[in-house]
Amino acid sequence: MSRFFSKTHDNLTPYTPGEQPRDRKYIKLNTNESPFAPSPKVVEAIQSKANLLNLYSDPTALSLKQAIANRYGVDEDMVTVSNGSDEILAFCFMAFCDGKTPMAYFDVTYGFYKVYAELFNIKSEVVALKEDFTADFDGLKKTQGNVIIANPNAQTGIFESLEDIESLVRAKADRVVIVDEAYCDFGGKSCIELVKKYDNLILVSTFSKSRNLAGGRIGYAIANGKLVCDLETVKFSFNPYNLGTLPIEAGVEAMKDVAYFEQCTKKVVEAREYTKKELISLGFEVLNSSANFLLARTDKMQGKNLYLALKEKGILVRYLGDERIKDFIRITIGSAQEMQAFIAAVKEIL
Ligand code: PMP
Repeated sequence: MSRFFSKTHDNLTPYTPGEQPRDRKYIKLNTNESPFAPSPKVVEAIQSKANLLNLYSDPTALSLKQAIANRYGVDEDMVTVSNGSDEILAFCFMAFCDGKTPMAYFDVTYGFYKVYAELFNIKSEVVALKEDFTADFDGLKKTQGNVIIANPNAQTGIFESLEDIESLVRAKADRVVIVDEAYCDFGGKSCIELVKKYDNLILVSTFSKSRNLAGGRIGYAIANGKLVCDLETVKFSFNPYNLGTLPIEAGVEAMKDVAYFEQCTKKVVEAREYTKKELISLGFEVLNSSANFLLARTDKMQGKNLYLALKEKGILVRYLGDERIKDFIRITIGSAQEMQAFIAAVKEIL
């Protein structure tokens, strides 16, 4: 740390992304990316727009907002887009929380919620998941602040019902509820219809997982027009051209190519169910995931050691190490062949 670093950030612990090693070729099952390339239509569209890069991108990203709005049957003024959904999550903290309005979230969830609260000096109200890692909605309802919930939840993959989400949104009528649906397309149900009904609900999602574009950095939020307006006030005060021309084009084509999206997400779900079945037959405890990853543990080997042994064999999974899940590894679902190789490696190790 330099002597110039602001004292306001003294206690800041940054987010640690999963490894992206370049030293050898790994089967990469550690950062919840898609194993499949983007749609060929996306690749074509990017190539055809590359000669426009001398100009700034469209700061309103209108074509992308329209593509998202058409797909989900909402008005385009209910949509805003961002440089990855991480950026929109940050905008939510900036727009709706302050010294008096904390952010509530679960103890086991996406690590960035805590980081943003610290970065923006916002108080966190941390509610413990139940013993079985399902959501404690009563606990969330008792908090003072806005709420952010990943559904399916990050790290566990567990999906909570829309009835519970709706009841939370009603109980928090004077606060904002943010539902992070990064993993929803792999078996969850979206709260999109609730967004049309409630003026305090924000749906956040990403092109990084189910639309095979993690490197494109495209996220979006869908909410009541007034909430979107607030998010855009923050965006235009921070980085008006937050999406480049190529990501905007990529996003439009990815949103339109429904057949490719369905084909890829179906394959991931099939590979997840295969992997889950195999792990259970090897004696693993596997949480019930509706996402593109599994959280699993075995009595035969500590999570960290299993992660290291797999790495040695050229397979990268994620060892998170947080207290409540320190025995578990998180396995991103890759292609069918990758998951067969993963299972074969686990068998050899154990
Ligand atoms: N939300 C959740 C729950 C995530 O796990 C992630 C990815 N790590 C994100 C949001 C951010 O994704 P991106 O910035 O790539 O859109």
